[in-house]
Amino acid sequence: MRRFKTGFMRAAGVVSAVFALALSAQSAGAAEPGNGFQVERYEVELRPDLATTAVSGSQAIELVVTDADLREVVFSSNALEVEGATLDGSPIAVVSDESGIAFTLPRPLAVGETVRLQFTMRGFPARGVTTVPNGIYTGYFGCDWMVCLQNPPGDKADLQLDLFLPDGAVSLGVGEQTETVDLPGDLTLHRWQSDWPTSPYLFGFAAGRFSRMDVDTPHGTLSYLNGTGDTADLADLFAQTPEMVAFFASRAGLDLPGGAYAQLLVPGRAAQETMSFSIIGLGELEREREDPSSAWIIAHELAHQWWGNLVTTQTWRDFWLNEGFATYMVAAWEQHRFGEAAYQQELDVLRKRRKQLQELGWDKPLTWDGDYPTLGHRRAVQYSKGALFLSELREDIGDAAFWEGVRAYTKAHAGGTVTSRDLQSAMERASGRDLEPLFAEWVYGVDGDQSADVAETP
Ligand SMILES: [Zn+2]
Repeated sequence: MRRFKTGFMRAAGVVSAVFALALSAQSAGAAEPGNGFQVERYEVELRPDLATTAVSGSQAIELVVTDADLREVVFSSNALEVEGATLDGSPIAVVSDESGIAFTLPRPLAVGETVRLQFTMRGFPARGVTTVPNGIYTGYFGCDWMVCLQNPPGDKADLQLDLFLPDGAVSLGVGEQTETVDLPGDLTLHRWQSDWPTSPYLFGFAAGRFSRMDVDTPHGTLSYLNGTGDTADLADLFAQTPEMVAFFASRAGLDLPGGAYAQLLVPGRAAQETMSFSIIGLGELEREREDPSSAWIIAHELAHQWWGNLVTTQTWRDFWLNEGFATYMVAAWEQHRFGEAAYQQELDVLRKRRKQLQELGWDKPLTWDGDYPTLGHRRAVQYSKGALFLSELREDIGDAAFWEGVRAYTKAHAGGTVTSRDLQSAMERASGRDLEPLFAEWVYGVDGDQSADVAETP
């Protein structure tokens, strides 16, 4: 993701008066989305209307109880109507408002107990579903078109998504398309199953009458789809992707997660990664074709396949581990492909963004957890300063130790979640050095490690 979305600043503690009244006899803590349980698996059956973006369908959620006082199971709020809820087959009440979607438990549940929640939903997602000339795509706001937990990013779960689409549509989803079933009534079922536990902000799908081409590489299969409604030379527009995949796979020490990756070309300047595909805006792509050595969109979103999607920040506090890495990998790619001058040029752009902030007297450690006055402030820290820290670290410990550390960190935490301490440990093992002073200066701040008491929401 390049553009910061305001949605993840949603305050988790706001409870409406009506809802608060309904909860008055219960533990206040249980009203927070995600409190007291862990989702293992989401199963979604969805009929998206490709013309209007309306969705209807049903869902099952397998969750494990982690708090003996759990009275309600609460998910992130959205604009859908949720009805007909059951828990292990018994009807239960569901209340939906701006603080969340709350399912009332019919009985106390034991810690460690696994239960299955089921319900139907319908409506117009408030955010996250975009129409293109021949279809729709979603990105970032997974919990707007299904019921899930948008925060924290470390709550990974498996996803099975059944899309019921008009005959002739093609689809993208999380993981692998494992089944395609022709149904009566000009409908086709497209079943997508995640390969890895996935953060819900990376849940996504696209569906429509898109032309498509596939390219096999030694590190996984690439798919290019055209959602612009116009003709496009996909092989030419995405010509650099196979070489980028080879470069990132060598730096990660791992092939493409799930052995596949798709890019959906759309009108405009959109840029957004999901677990298994990215949205690439044609406007941005055309701009950078005039100057290939400063191209970022394909490389940045592709880099997230390893750094962000496979290895994911545990909380938003360490979000620089997603975005600083993706930003740095663009510079590293440019150095590999175009040489040292291109690398320095990219770092200069990042230095300039950081300097603008410093001139305002505003500089924060990478794990700073306070409010950012603007999106520009947040990006200058988590994207630009994050990437500059990695370049500094590489300079300090040398190429061999740095890339060995990156590979070790990526492989050790593939499919999992990370904090800055995990990166520090990997880099200290690879270099044989105590990196506490450097991490204290850039990452934790001079007051010491602030990551010990990580916040659950941004
Ligand atoms: Zn990004």
